[in-house]
Amino acid sequence: MKCKKCGRKAVVNLKAYGISLCEKCYPEFYKNLVKRSIKRFRILNQHERVLVAVSGGKDSSAMAAVLKELGYDIELLYIDLGIGDYSKVSEKVVKDLSKNLGVKLNVVRLRDYGFTVDDVARRMRRKTCSACGTAKRYIMNRFARENSFEVVATGHTAEDVVSFYIKNVAGGTKVWAEKLMPRNDPFDEKIVARAKPLFEMSEKENMLYVLIETIPYTPMECPHAPEPEWKEIVYEIERRKPGFVKNFVRGLVRPAEEFEEIRYCKICGEVASGEICAFCRLKEKLTG
Ligand code: AMP
Ligand code: ZN
Repeated sequence: MKCKKCGRKAVVNLKAYGISLCEKCYPEFYKNLVKRSIKRFRILNQHERVLVAVSGGKDSSAMAAVLKELGYDIELLYIDLGIGDYSKVSEKVVKDLSKNLGVKLNVVRLRDYGFTVDDVARRMRRKTCSACGTAKRYIMNRFARENSFEVVATGHTAEDVVSFYIKNVAGGTKVWAEKLMPRNDPFDEKIVARAKPLFEMSEKENMLYVLIETIPYTPMECPHAPEPEWKEIVYEIERRKPGFVKNFVRGLVRPAEEFEEIRYCKICGEVASGEICAFCRLKEKLTG
């Protein structure tokens, strides 16, 4: 397998794009994809102060590294949720990440508010994940506002967005649009904008980037996290239909201006995508 760009030995094969790349060309390719996505969907702008929420996992580590590479004005935020060894290992990793990138790390401890996620797990087990989500969102927003950041960036991936959507549609629950959107601007002055700069990137692409660029991350998973059933379904569809995840997530958030304006057929007057509608074109071919 050879690199499509330079002909050297390829180390990655991206089925979604049908190309192979070497370890020099892959990081460039990845950086460009993120750059294009941020621009196209207006996810961040170069003048704003961005608070990058890092968990120690591969996705948010990749996000911090690529945003720094792209010249954004960033600082990191790690929330110590008080989840046993998992929180301790993650904190060490984000400290390494901060040193490695030369970017300031801020740490906020949930314990300082009087409880931890382990307390939640002991007292109300079934609610652990949603309580943890509530705590993270609250702390991210409050810290960002009190420290004059204009936007909080999280490392949500294309698989996160797609599996969230499918899970909710399949379960018959309302899908909150803001959970899908690459950027949400505030509806109140106490709320800070939220961005997902990696919403078009897949977990595999993020993993390759951190491995090739030797960016600190931990493969450790939260001990309270449930079985990722919907994620696994999404992985399986992607395995059988390479490119599915990217196409799906793009379809979900396609910018409005990309929809064609409404036009009417010159011949019959019905709605058409061009000058003449598909039916009249077909009829012309067969009868004309
Ligand atoms: P999760 O909700 O665990 O899927 O994580 C989604 C995103 O939230 C991650 O990519 C991070 O950007 C952010 N995040 C998760 N856990 C933490 C944490 N302990 N501290 C700061 N940010 C976090
Ligand atoms: Zn190459």
